[in-house]
Amino acid sequence: MYTAAFYDTKPYDKKWFDKLKGDYKIDIRYFESRLTPDTAVLAKGCDSVVAFVSDDLGKNTMEALKNIGIRTVAMRCAGLNNVDLQSAGDMRIYHVPAYSPSAVAEHAVALLLCVNRKIHKAWSRTRDHNFSLKGLVGFGLKGKTVGVVGTGKVGRAFIDICRGFGMKVIAYDAYPDKNFDVEYTDFRDLCRRAHVISLHCPLLKDTRHMIDKKALDIMQSGVYIINTSRGGLIDSDALLDAVQSGKVGGAGLDVYEEETEFFYEDVSDKVFTDEVLDVLLSQPNVIVTSHQAFLTEEALEAIARETLASLAADRDGKDSPNMVRRDAALKG
Ligand code: NAD
Repeated sequence: MYTAAFYDTKPYDKKWFDKLKGDYKIDIRYFESRLTPDTAVLAKGCDSVVAFVSDDLGKNTMEALKNIGIRTVAMRCAGLNNVDLQSAGDMRIYHVPAYSPSAVAEHAVALLLCVNRKIHKAWSRTRDHNFSLKGLVGFGLKGKTVGVVGTGKVGRAFIDICRGFGMKVIAYDAYPDKNFDVEYTDFRDLCRRAHVISLHCPLLKDTRHMIDKKALDIMQSGVYIINTSRGGLIDSDALLDAVQSGKVGGAGLDVYEEETEFFYEDVSDKVFTDEVLDVLLSQPNVIVTSHQAFLTEEALEAIARETLASLAADRDGKDSPNMVRRDAALKG
């Protein structure tokens, strides 16, 4: 039977893959380890590898996989920034381009509402029978300007929700869609005008640290920044300075640039060595979640279905809409 080696397995992944794998006649060997150049050998004898954003699919891993005869990698996520497509050569790479844009958009809104309306502070206070409202004043979203960077699937779902709140939406996209009804502007103008900025574009060479000191300097004082996209879009040192100076009024971060070291893991019993993240976490107006924006039952089911469908297409030599078009991805 066609067998896939499944890396960085978590119980919530296994639940849906186990439920659906019979429908696609795919066998799965689950490994808790992340995929790295050293663990690639675990896939020996399998037909393909299933990996995630937390896995290392750099040059050495790709070489190691090729050496044991693996020709297919199915990413059970949308982003490909951790996959060295150049080194993949003629390997077949699949991903799940759209599993639940609304899940990510809803999480972005949850972060915004939580940090703005101080829900996290209120929750810990009332648990301690402290019913004081001191320091819990938020601001209304109605009538405020939200700047959306990236008007793809998630950006649009986020815009829909913001419009429901009565917010004015402005957007920046490197490839604006003429047919999409939104006020597009350039990135600097968006930074200048928005009360809230939410990032929904991919991490690429030219988007790395797009939120840096220069961008933060021209933003409104007290701006809120939400990032559910990729941590590398924000220069974390510059963000921390801006939070500490009061330039940034609040930040909701589901992603962080050095996250692969500890996101998805319980490291609470270890000495924490990332000082920037540690100080960010300790700020009352910063909320960090552990790359969980996708984590709904609906999205997990869709990820499992799409990944298994990709593997079945790979086995049967059929086309799949989830196959990564290498020319387009490399250009990106
Ligand atoms: P998408 O491909 O549908 O949309 C991305 C948009 O970004 C496109 O409109 C594209 O034109 C635009 N873009 C490309 N290059 C740009 C640039 N240089 N500057 C500005 N805009 C640019 O992707 P999506 O499904 O909407 O996902 C958006 C991002 O969300 C993904 O890149 C991924 O990193 C992230 N994501 C996060 C989670 C999570 O759990 N936190 C889950 C899924 C996706």
